[in-house]
Amino acid sequence: MNTVKNIVPAFNFQSRMNPLQYWSEQSNQPAVCCSVLFCYNHDIEGGLVQRSNSNDKQIYIVPLCSQHRQSYACMEIGNTKLISIGNIAEAFAPLADKVK
Ligand SMILES: [Zn+2]
Repeated sequence: MNTVKNIVPAFNFQSRMNPLQYWSEQSNQPAVCCSVLFCYNHDIEGGLVQRSNSNDKQIYIVPLCSQHRQSYACMEIGNTKLISIGNIAEAFAPLADKVK
């Protein structure tokens, strides 16, 4: 079971890229609803998270609803694929370049 936490709650990347589209392309899955276990909200965007139970410093995109994008709690995301966008140092500047 993957547990994650937001690194930038409610941060808006929409002017630079579409994280949800990137997640969908990289995971080969349609983004349908929130990744958090037992949450079925459809108002999703790509949330930026880190694993909360790991030394892994990578930042990942997973689909999250507006409520869970603003959460500071650890969230169980079941089997949702974590799509890496690199570590925290490199994740922000080159983000746009990774989306074709
Ligand atoms: Zn949710």
